[in-house]
Amino acid sequence: MHYYGCIYRAPLLAPGSSPYLVLPHAKIERTLLDQALASGQIKLIQPAKAVNLIRRSPEAISGIRYQDEQGIHEAYAPLVVGADGHKSVVREQMGVEVAAYHYDHAYLGLEAQRPTHYENAMRVHLHPDGGILLMPRPDRVGVGVLVAADSANYWLKLPHEKIDVEVNAYHYDYAFI
Ligand SMILES: Cc1cc2nc3c(=O)[nH]c(=O)nc-3n(C[C@H](O)[C@H](O)[C@H](O)COP(=O)(O)OP(=O)(O)OC[C@H]3O[C@@H](n4cnc5c(N)ncnc54)[C@H](O)[C@@H]3O)c2cc1C
Repeated sequence: MHYYGCIYRAPLLAPGSSPYLVLPHAKIERTLLDQALASGQIKLIQPAKAVNLIRRSPEAISGIRYQDEQGIHEAYAPLVVGADGHKSVVREQMGVEVAAYHYDHAYLGLEAQRPTHYENAMRVHLHPDGGILLMPRPDRVGVGVLVAADSANYWLKLPHEKIDVEVNAYHYDYAFI
């Protein structure tokens, strides 16, 4: 809800959908952006990357330097809000420390065609090498696999058919998908 009223309604259980709450992040962000643009009071620069903060004095921040396709630019504002996620440039430059938890594993998110015989249930398959989480959606099944920490590059470069072979070998329970 926004103080102007309801700006987006996400049904918990749409007819024919799976009974799980999966928030559509991209849609929520698009809705917030549409509302902000409709106000006529913002200028959107995209794609762009915040590079560093501009300081009026060591304590006072007056803007940011950002990079877009044309190069580096400066933007000034009475208030700078950092919402740039877990590797926030703004937080780092403000000197705000964060106690990051270092996981010894990573999450590989896959999707598969949903077999017609798959019953509507979320399943967790435990295995000594990791585990698999299966999340049914109307036509697809989300597959979450625990893999080695820092293996993102390895998985992202693997061709689709090899992912299938690797995950099957690594987690025998995956075979029924
Ligand atoms: C696979 C996965 C599943 C998850 N599932 C859930 C769940 O079921 N429930 C739940 O509550 N949470 C879940 N989370 C966690 C949730 O997504 C995060 O906690 C949340 O998105 C953090 O929000 P944020 O606004 O701080 O950062 P983000 O959502 O990461 O947004 C940061 C934004 O800043 C942009 N950005 C970063 N650096 C810069 C820069 N230098 N310049 C400009 N822009 C920049 C990024 O592109 C991004 O758009 C999940 C996360 C992952 C990865």
